[in-house]
Amino acid sequence: MAFNIISEARRCLNCKNPSCRKGCPISTAIPDVIRTFLDGDIDKAGSMLFENNPLSVICSLICNHDNQCEGNCVLGRKGSPVHFSDIENYISDAYFDKLDFGDIKKNGIHVGVIGGGPAGITIAILLARKGYTITIFESREKIGGVLRYGIPEFRLPKQILEKYKKLMLSLGIKIRPNTSIGTTITIDDLFRDGYKAIFIGTGVWKPNTLHIKGESLGNVHFAINYLTNPDVYTLGESLNIIGAGNSAMDVARTALRHGCRKVTVFARSEKLAASVTEVEYAKYDGVEFVTGVEPVEITDDGTVFVRVERSEDGVKRRVEGTEKLYPASSTIIAVSQGPRDRIVSTTTGLDVTERGLLVTNTYGKTTRDGIFAAGDVVRGARTVVEAVNYSKQVAEAMDEYLQRLSNHKE
Ligand SMILES: Cc1cc2nc3c(=O)[nH]c(=O)nc-3n(C[C@H](O)[C@H](O)[C@H](O)COP(=O)(O)OP(=O)(O)OC[C@H]3O[C@@H](n4cnc5c(N)ncnc54)[C@H](O)[C@@H]3O)c2cc1C
Repeated sequence: MAFNIISEARRCLNCKNPSCRKGCPISTAIPDVIRTFLDGDIDKAGSMLFENNPLSVICSLICNHDNQCEGNCVLGRKGSPVHFSDIENYISDAYFDKLDFGDIKKNGIHVGVIGGGPAGITIAILLARKGYTITIFESREKIGGVLRYGIPEFRLPKQILEKYKKLMLSLGIKIRPNTSIGTTITIDDLFRDGYKAIFIGTGVWKPNTLHIKGESLGNVHFAINYLTNPDVYTLGESLNIIGAGNSAMDVARTALRHGCRKVTVFARSEKLAASVTEVEYAKYDGVEFVTGVEPVEITDDGTVFVRVERSEDGVKRRVEGTEKLYPASSTIIAVSQGPRDRIVSTTTGLDVTERGLLVTNTYGKTTRDGIFAAGDVVRGARTVVEAVNYSKQVAEAMDEYLQRLSNHKE
């Protein structure tokens, strides 16, 4: 393993103007990290990665590298790119257990973080390191958000999240599990209790529906619900999946590992929304694909689809008379998610977009003073690295806000 990583690292051309870095949404200093590693300073390389991206060890496993760092590596134009994801994983994993922030001087200012997903974890770590007293409110049993309750174990071992929990506890961060803000406790309660700023990173957990007949039948489920706990579902022998994004691939591959014998993904477009790698893995796992179809109805016996074709005006239309039942014991709808409105409906002054996403400025400041937000609840269903990158900026903005607030009071 180590030998392979080292020879892979040695392939890096150390470009002056690295396009891999430009392709990385969080601008990881890839050639510098690789050089530092090859110079024998793995701890410094690990620190460079962690300081730039506190979720580096996670991103190294689940980012869409084909479109980002590796997809932009110049060596990839004529051959195989440098597989930085493996190098990053090796360095970050080795470094994680050595992380030690020493004694942090506490400033006595309380900050509430709602949501323990990638956005909330990033904010909590960054602000705790600046001396703030952080409490994470997480509606589920464990932290991680989609990392725990969406992405399957075979793509992201959950043991990594336990390490993050340990790290956060070592920073003095308090975690309140099974605590959904906007129900028993509201944001106003948090302000009442002395929190000087609140961060909302609650993601998108309300499945989008298709508004077709059959969605409420007993053999029909939504992707994000299924992935939360696949063990409690009885899907039967065969599964139809409507939608072809990364969630659909996760559902398909999970279902095959949970006893389904035939899994078919149905998509409207020939070009699938999921990453090339995820589709490839799904195909090798045995998932079948049917493209150019749209669902019409879901029944006890399967899903009815109709063919769609692009007409001369460029608009896709249904081809009449092509309706066909594709038999399956279950159907799972995987057409993304939107935000729930628990917090917005119990908090005054928070503006939302037409899609229910929180309105913020570029620094995550919402329309109510003292409340900040980042991640999917602001941008819609996106990626982990984007949530982290945005949260980094928001942590800086929250720090500035809180320092101004405390200077003003002195
Ligand atoms: C199935 C699936 C697979 C994916 N695969 C990838 C991938 O391979 N690579 C990638 O980069 N991205 C992937 N994504 C997207 C990525 O996971 C998200 O963009 C990312 O998790 C967003 O982080 P977040 O912190 O904003 O939200 P989330 O991860 O959704 O975390 C939000 C947290 O807030 C909690 N919460 C919600 N409401 C409340 C409340 N009222 N009170 C307290 N807590 C609350 C939730 O329980 C959750 O823990 C995937 C998404 C899905 C659904």
